[in-house]
Amino acid sequence: MKNYQLINSLEKLESLFDLSYKIPNREEFSKYIFQHPLRFTPYLVEQIKCSPAVAKQYIPDPKELDKQGLEKTFTGIIGTGIPGLERMYLDRVILMPSSQCFAYCRFCFRKNYSHDANNGDYGSPQNNFKKALEYIGNDSRIKEVLITGGDPLMFPGKVIELILKLRTIAHLTGIRIGTRIFTSDPELINEDWIRPFTVLNTISTLPIPAPVSISPHINHPDELTPQSIRALLLCTQNRIPLYNQTVLLKGINDDPELLIQLFRQLRQLGIEPYRVYHADPLQGSEHFRTSLKEFMTIKREMRAKASGRIVPSFIMDTRIGKVELGADAEIIKREGNTVWIKTPYTREIYQAVNPEWKLPEFCQLSDNGQIIVPYEDATKKEDFSRIKISLIT
Ligand code: SF4
Repeated sequence: MKNYQLINSLEKLESLFDLSYKIPNREEFSKYIFQHPLRFTPYLVEQIKCSPAVAKQYIPDPKELDKQGLEKTFTGIIGTGIPGLERMYLDRVILMPSSQCFAYCRFCFRKNYSHDANNGDYGSPQNNFKKALEYIGNDSRIKEVLITGGDPLMFPGKVIELILKLRTIAHLTGIRIGTRIFTSDPELINEDWIRPFTVLNTISTLPIPAPVSISPHINHPDELTPQSIRALLLCTQNRIPLYNQTVLLKGINDDPELLIQLFRQLRQLGIEPYRVYHADPLQGSEHFRTSLKEFMTIKREMRAKASGRIVPSFIMDTRIGKVELGADAEIIKREGNTVWIKTPYTREIYQAVNPEWKLPEFCQLSDNGQIIVPYEDATKKEDFSRIKISLIT
């Protein structure tokens, strides 16, 4: 792995970037940066210099000190008890080889995870993953495995090793990888890098092998640079299916025209625009969040102007799982800033996975047994596009 710059002090940050904003409490902000460090690749530093939309995703704002919100996204998780293996749903699990990333997005929905190389790695396929692979192999209801983190493609060798083992499990129908390599360090992707993934998608001992697909996380057209386009095309033209996920970020990409432009370009590159996520109600993320009304209005305006192939699903992470308003979930009441969402999930589904699972105290049940979960809408309407960041050269 390359030695990417880790920045864990305000002084180091200020030596790299000319921060235009005032820092009301330097000591507190310094401590916060130590707990939630930054990391950049040389490529990303250049992108930050050129694009405010990229800069705002990675440079911390003192507004992150705001304690409003949850510490953790999925508090109603079913769990497996195995490090690096998470489960929330009947038919799919998450495997996390590492919680390190090429660069740390300030709105990350896993911001509560340690990014420390010593604490954030869950081991190799030989030790911890032995148990995880046994768990997956012993439950034929699991059809898909998402390898994520952190960014698993910081350790492609480990990922290939895991996939080779997963491909021996006959009941799996899909293996997915979540990554920001295309926007963080696309120059890593070359013919040698993609060859194992292409081979995995063409050769198998199983009659119908589980295809390996990769999900980039592209939020803004500025992230489609000549370098990232080359890397994306290398994958799609070499039998590696790509499907994109985007987070809707206030002051960055909360614009239907801009998103249509992004998703049209992705389609052109052979990438499925799969999902747009509402920014999670996490501590330190409030300034990134649009209201749910804005979220749904953007979707409606996009749908009015663009084909269904261009407009992805608009998804929210509730504390017990992902939902799509107007499709599988609905808001049944609003109390101040809290909306109550009737989800498609039931207690029986979760207990079928883990008989010990209990309905979280914060949830309710509808008459027909669907779980109703509270979700905090965005409160602050302030646009933070006032922040300008320039690189100290
Ligand atoms: S790459 Fe993904 S996991 Fe890593 S900081 Fe960004 S959003 Fe979080």
